[in-house]
Order: sequence, then C-alpha cells, then structure tokens
Amino acid sequence: MKTVGILTALLCMLLLAGCEEEFPAETATQQTEDMITSMEAEPVLSYEVPKSVPGILVNQLGYTTGSSKVAVFRGREMPEQFYVKEESSQKIVYTGTLEIKKQDSVSKEVSCYGDFSAVISPGVYYIEAPILGRSYSFEIGEAVYAPLFDEACKQYYYNRCGMTLTEEYAGDGAHNACHTAKAVSQTDTSLTLDASGGWHQDEKGQKNMMTAARTVSTLLLAYELYPQVFSDNCGIPESGNGVPDILDEIKYEIDWMLKMQQQESGAVYAGVSVYAKSGDASSKAAEIYVEPISLDAGKAFAMALAKFSYLYQNYDTVYATNCLKAADRAWKYVELNENNKETDEWEFAAAAELYRASGQTSYSAHATRFLREKKYETVWNETTMLGCVTYLSTKHVVNTTYCENVMNYLMAKAEDISYVARDAVYFTAGTKEQDNDTQLLFEMMCLSVVNHIISNHEYETIIENHLHYFTGRNITAYNHISDPVGIMKQFESDAKLVVMLSGILYNGR
Ligand SMILES: [Zn+2]
Repeated sequence: MKTVGILTALLCMLLLAGCEEEFPAETATQQTEDMITSMEAEPVLSYEVPKSVPGILVNQLGYTTGSSKVAVFRGREMPEQFYVKEESSQKIVYTGTLEIKKQDSVSKEVSCYGDFSAVISPGVYYIEAPILGRSYSFEIGEAVYAPLFDEACKQYYYNRCGMTLTEEYAGDGAHNACHTAKAVSQTDTSLTLDASGGWHQDEKGQKNMMTAARTVSTLLLAYELYPQVFSDNCGIPESGNGVPDILDEIKYEIDWMLKMQQQESGAVYAGVSVYAKSGDASSKAAEIYVEPISLDAGKAFAMALAKFSYLYQNYDTVYATNCLKAADRAWKYVELNENNKETDEWEFAAAAELYRASGQTSYSAHATRFLREKKYETVWNETTMLGCVTYLSTKHVVNTTYCENVMNYLMAKAEDISYVARDAVYFTAGTKEQDNDTQLLFEMMCLSVVNHIISNHEYETIIENHLHYFTGRNITAYNHISDPVGIMKQFESDAKLVVMLSGILYNGR
C-alpha cells in the first residue's frame, strides 16, 4: 500500500499544479446504454477453445525490442526449459527456465511463465519447449505496433459514408458514394434532409448520434493525451495537409453531426437508420430515415462538438468557432426543453467541454453539481470519465477539492485494476480467464489516463500486457483485434483500442 500513498501524494502535487484556476461544470443524463436502438448488438465472438491450441502462448504480433517479453505456457506436464528460436535458421538464440504461476487442482493444468526479455535483436522468432511443441511465430522490433495503430485509426476512413472511397486509399474496401439520397424524417414523412456523410457504425450504415459523439470524444482523448504519435501520413485523402490525420478523420464525422442539427432551434436528431430494400443496405434503393430529435442526442452533440472545437482551434479557428457555437445552441435547446433537473453524465461531460472551450461560468455550475454529489462513483462509464478528464485539464477556474476527489477516485480505479492484473494468469484486469473485451478496453482507457498523469511503469506494463492478451497470449491463442469481427471491426471498441495503442506507442518511443 506504500505505492498508493506515493501515488496519491504525486497526484495531489499534480492536481495543485494543474488545477489552480480551472474547473468546468457539466450535467448529463444517463441513457447511453439503453438509448442505442439503431445499432446492431455487438457481434458475438466465439471464444470456444479450438481443438489444437498451442501450449505456448505469445503476442502473435510481436514484442518491442526493449520491452519485457513473457510467454505463457499451459499443460498438465511442464518441461523445465524453453527455447527461443530464430524462424529462418531455426537456431536457438535463448534458453530460459519456466516459472510456475498457477496450478488448477481440478483440471491439473499448470500455467507457467517464460521470460525472454533478454532477446533484443530484431527478427522473427518462435518458442519451442519439450512436451508442449512450438508457439506461433512473432516479431521482435522497434516498431512492431505501429502498423496496427495506423490500421486501427484508419478503420474510420473505411467507414466513411457518402463519398467515393478509391482504391488508392481504401484498397479492397473501395466503393462508390453510398447513402446519398435524401433521408426522410421518421416523424414527418413530408420532410427530407441530407443526412449523408460521417461514419457508418455497422454493416447497414446506421448512424446514432450518441454513439458517434462518444466515439469522437474517445478518439479526441487519445489525441489529447498523446498528440505526438498521430501523424499526417496515414494514407487518407487529407494526408499531408498539415493537420494530423486523426483530426481530419474526426472532422469528417463532425461535418455530418453538424448536418444533424436543426438550424433554427439548435435541436439535434438522434441519428439515421437505414432499411435495405434489396438486401444491400448500401444500394441506392436503401430507405434512409432520420430519427426524431432527442435531448440526449443534443447533450452528446454538445460534448463532442465543444471538445473538437477546443482541440481543432489551432488548425482552423473559423471552423472551430462554428463548432463551439453549434455546441452552445444544442446545449441551450436542451436547457430550455428538459424537465429533469438532475445532472446526468452526458450533461456533465457536455458542460465540462463547453466550459473548457468557452470559459463561460454558466457551464461550470452544471459540472460542479455532478462532481459535488460524486455521481461518478455511481455512473462510472466512458462519458463520465471523458467529462472528468476535461474538468481536470481546463485552464479556467475550477474547484480544487472536486479535482482532488476525482483524481483520488481515478487513482483508486487504477490501483484496483493493477491489483487484479498482478494475480491473473494472462496479466489482465478481468477476473475470469475469458474476459469481456469491451470492459477490458474501458479499464485500459482509465489506466492510460492515470498513467498519462503520473507515468507509472507498472501501469505501462499492464496496458502492454492487455495488448499481448488481445493479440494471442490468451487461453484460445485467438487474436481478438484482427479477427474479422474482432475489436478493430467494432465501431466503439476500436476507438478505445486507439487510446490504448497511442499510449503504448508513446511510451515505447
Ligand atoms: Zn453510407
């Protein structure tokens, strides 16, 4: 528990340094999970253990040169030693000893670790051991995760709606502009509007505002924490324009979000649903509907637009200002029309963003109400966390006591995560052998935020261990990220993956 004390002290110092004159306010309501009606359920991934899982489990993508490298060995009988072999020559480059981690009294299965951190020469290797056979091949190199990071970022480009994706940028994913027909209002079929653009959230091309806002904000968080790892040459049409590609990509979604706001009132439509006429949702014959105005969509919109405005202002002041004005109009519409006086996490996050971006004190009251009541303790999710991080980082006057409470809460979360991970066979924060990837990604987002503030080596290792877990060092030796229905193909999970990878890339520099 000594660690906790030191961390808390560090945090307080940081807090005092960062919080001296800042505080946003927010309010939010909490319908996130229940509100998403237009999206398909998350794909059900099959985690059935294949018949021939290797007994030696590694990150199939590889390990960075200087990192700690551990393979997990499973079986009823364990050898004493293992060998790291170079793939091309099959020569042994390292001999290691196994260390027992866990013995299952029922299945008699033993889990062991083999540390081969000493292998630092770039190359392609595999691990072999008597009784167990060999592992999948993997690479050791300086930049083994860079292509994965670029690919995770580029998923949003592949999902662009309403524009032609050429082979030059989209490869096999090239297609003509989709969903370009006018959309019909669900509540008034005589009303049509242009709802094309933005990113598809699933195969059908559905676009839900709250999901869009949360995803945009998560990607912006990654950029905010680690701007250094985002390049201007990811191979999208905007590459090389002097703006980081991630911001260009997000702007494509923001352009669509702006279309979904009523000019006169500031109200925001809940999203776009698509019904295929001929089985092909992307065909011209698809019916496109705009879902009714929703206050929650308005709050989500205000959060994302204010956040984007703040982070984009150095690249295009005029556009950024328009975004902030749009966020403010959406906020005012919600205030005018909402009867519920409770502050939910969406209002909280929106108020925090609006306060940070504009400095107007009217917003901070909403944020501080949520913080005063410590609502984050009961509503701890992505939106709440996004609002908290923004409140902590605002340059305007904030309540230092609330800042400190939030920091302590974040620190406690990080300690909980590391406590579980220390004991887990696959070093993950889940309590079961097969965990819920969405939950693990959320935990890693949380740990990334804390690690960004206090730079804790143990947390860095835990985050990296989760990448090892996702890319093959797990009970099924299954790659959770690049599977055709894996993390990268899931609209929201991919953004959290970007947060996780951006930290790993930054720390590995
Ligand atoms: Zn489309």
